[in-house]
Amino acid sequence: EMFGQLTSGLESAWSKLKGEEVLTKENIAEPMRDIRRALLEADVSLPVVRRFVQAVSDQAVGVGVIRGVKPDQQLVKIVNDELVKLMGGEVSELTFAKSGPTVILLAGLQGVGKTTVCAKLANYLKKLGKTSMLVAGDVYRPAAIDQLVILGEQVKVPVYTAGTDTKPSEIARQGLVEAKKKNIDVVIMDTAGRLQIDKGMMDELKEVKRVLNPTEVLLVVDAMTGQEAAALVTTFNVEIGITGAILTKLDGDSRGGAALSVKEVSGKPIKLVGRGERMEDLEPFYPDRMAGRILGMGDVLSFVEKAQEVMKQEDAEDLQKKIMSAKFDFNDFLKQTRAVARMGSMTRVLGMIPGMGKVTPAQIREAEKSLKIMEAMIEVMTPEEKEKPELLAESSTRRKRVAQESGKTEQQVSQLVAQLFQMRVRMKNLMGVMEGGSIPALNN
Ligand code: GDP
Repeated sequence: EMFGQLTSGLESAWSKLKGEEVLTKENIAEPMRDIRRALLEADVSLPVVRRFVQAVSDQAVGVGVIRGVKPDQQLVKIVNDELVKLMGGEVSELTFAKSGPTVILLAGLQGVGKTTVCAKLANYLKKLGKTSMLVAGDVYRPAAIDQLVILGEQVKVPVYTAGTDTKPSEIARQGLVEAKKKNIDVVIMDTAGRLQIDKGMMDELKEVKRVLNPTEVLLVVDAMTGQEAAALVTTFNVEIGITGAILTKLDGDSRGGAALSVKEVSGKPIKLVGRGERMEDLEPFYPDRMAGRILGMGDVLSFVEKAQEVMKQEDAEDLQKKIMSAKFDFNDFLKQTRAVARMGSMTRVLGMIPGMGKVTPAQIREAEKSLKIMEAMIEVMTPEEKEKPELLAESSTRRKRVAQESGKTEQQVSQLVAQLFQMRVRMKNLMGVMEGGSIPALNN
């Protein structure tokens, strides 16, 4: 079964956390060893495994407790998110030319499923509403040309052939002319597959690439070859420059090393995956669905996500309640100010909010500077002072102490205290609650 071995390897990691209350550096040590072992057995390359395990443990130790969510469930979620990231995050779509035919150049070693992919791809494009034409460029194996013609008939797309005596780059040129004449949307160029990489193969590919100026250069690799597939993608990318990979035979891959390594090792995304011998068995590579399949715990993932949302929701409701009851304190003040500062720099970056377009970098810096000053003062307040700003309003001794410990002036502290009470009033007004929001005068 697809990724079956990896799935059960990871399961032993979760099982070690049963009965724990929180994730700690100590109790994740053993599960992390299981994860490491599972990935290595899946044939993920060692540097990738190291980085992955590090990233997961860093997050696991720092993660807060979410009510109702058990530590093993939290770890599942962290591993899931890291797996998604490892595989490139988002789905990487095929690119199409803005005008003229899109040209997809396919390369790959013999037996990986390249010829099959040509026809599968044409079939897939048909579903997207695009016409395509196959070009037979594997001139070293007459059988390969015959096979392409048969598969082309099967999926009902034209196949351009020029026998075995013409140079592949010349076949490519002719095929492209033919496709333009027929107003074909996508040209799919098949090339020679050898048993192993050699200079002749690379030179020929370079020449075909030069002639075609393709939109996509995709290397077809066999999932069963594990991290070797990732290494091949790297080599081809360095040698000829590719845009991505197509991973075949995923249906028979119980380990998952190729799916997990290609992006991280080569920097190039897996764009499509083959999951069977039928013409329908080619689909986009969705990192999130792959991760979900590897973990086999869709219900746990959606549960943790919901719990996280509820937490955020409760946080917001909590803040609202505090504002309504005039309990808005320095802790909330800091949270709020930080959120606003973050939003400020974000809106500038995104240039999104109309009327906010004129926020200058200098203004942003200024806001960040004053946030730092506030933070310094709030940091040295006692917990009691943070929760009851009245204490600071009522006592100049306290304000002096805060000023001294934070290295700010007493005037700055007074300003901060006044600001908090102003904020209370503003927020109460905003909520339509008018009573009880007076600003206390500072007593000396
Ligand atoms: P080429 O030498 O790279 O052109 O490889 P072929 O296209 O001839 O495929 C080699 C063999 O792999 C054929 O028997 C295909 O049916 C099979 N094959 C290709 N893709 C897949 C796949 O995704 N899953 C499975 N199970 N078999 C595949």
